[in-house]
Parts: sequence; C-alpha cells; structure tokens
Amino acid sequence: MTAIGFDFDHTLGVDNGLERKALCAFAAELGRPLDPADAVGRERIDDLLGRFRTGEMTMDAMIEQFATGLGARNADPARWREHCYALVDELVRPVDAARETLAALRDRGIATAILTNGWTPLQQRKIARALDGAAPALILVSDALGAVKPERAAFDALVDALRVPRERLWYVGDNARGDVAGALAAGLRGVWFDWEGQSYPQDLPPPTIRITALRELETLVENTLDP
Ligand SMILES: [Mg+2]
Repeated sequence: MTAIGFDFDHTLGVDNGLERKALCAFAAELGRPLDPADAVGRERIDDLLGRFRTGEMTMDAMIEQFATGLGARNADPARWREHCYALVDELVRPVDAARETLAALRDRGIATAILTNGWTPLQQRKIARALDGAAPALILVSDALGAVKPERAAFDALVDALRVPRERLWYVGDNARGDVAGALAAGLRGVWFDWEGQSYPQDLPPPTIRITALRELETLVENTLDP
C-alpha cells in the first residue's frame, strides 16, 4: 500500500495573504489603520508573521508586539482570529485541479493526508473552503503536533498516522526546504510541486520527482507507486 501526504498552502490551496490582511483589519479596529503604501510597516508585519509561523513566537506574543508597534494597548488575539476566519471565504481558493486530483487518488485507493504548518482552527477552515468534500480525512497541523516542518517529528507524525512504511510515503509540497528536504531527511519520498517560478536551492538534496501540475500525480501513481 502507498500513501501521499500533502502540504496545504501553495500546494492544494492559496489564501492570498489572509493573515496579513487580518492584521490590517485588526489594526483598523484598534483605531490605528495601516497605510497600504508603508513598505516598512509591511515588512514588519511579514517579519512578525514569519516568526509566528516558525514557532519562534506565540500567537499572543505576535499580537502583542503588533499592537505595541501601533501604539495600541489591550489587543485581544481572539479578535485577530475572528478577522482571520471572516476572510476565509473571500480569500481562500483551491490550487488548479486540487479537488479533482484528491478525488482521483481516493478512487484509486491511495491513502492521502495533509501535513501543514499553522494553527489548527484556521487551517481546518482554509482546507474546508478550498477542498470542500475532497479534503482528506486526515489533517495534521503543526500547532497540535508541536513540530513544524521541516522538523523530522512532523513527518514522523504523518508516517504514524498513515501507517505505511516511510519509503512508500510520498510527500508533495511547494517549499523546497520545508517540504521536500524535510520529507527526504525523514526517509520519505519528496515531490517538489514547482508551479510558482521558484528556484530549487543548490544546497538541498534534489527532490525524488518534480511536478508542475497536481494532475501529474495520477500518472505518477500509475507508473511509479503501484506498477
Ligand atoms: Mg506550502
């Protein structure tokens, strides 16, 4: 038996800067609207979100720093979460053929799962919005795992959840370092989904295979996984 694990953001769905836009809405609510032309402010937001995503900073700390930088006090992280949820329908979209590919893999009896970095309630909502009924039943999110890709523990959790030998587990993602190199280092096969014009860093081991469209996974299953 063979299984495929997927990254979510920029692999199965896109959120068009949802968390950044939620911070902008939150700032406006705090009476400190951000200037869209302010490049430094934008850089500051991206830095905060980046540190939050890697687990370097908690959500509460991120919101506190954000609000302090605006000169606002008593900012409630729960309000920022509400702004995030409110933007899901408007901003989240599936990547081309994501639903069709997941359905086709399921029809072929391939077990699928999502392993994503992020915070569970938002990732669950984004996945439901992007994939609807085609979403895999098994969804692992880094905040609940206590491990952020490319940490090995994140991929180990995927192996345990899917109950397949790790060399028969393929992991598909757009991020060379977080997805592909992380999967390879954990003994999985790494599929690089190369669709946004990024280059693959020279210092990383090459992917097991490179695809430019999700549909290619169906052919891969036919030819490579279960010959
Ligand atoms: Mg991604």
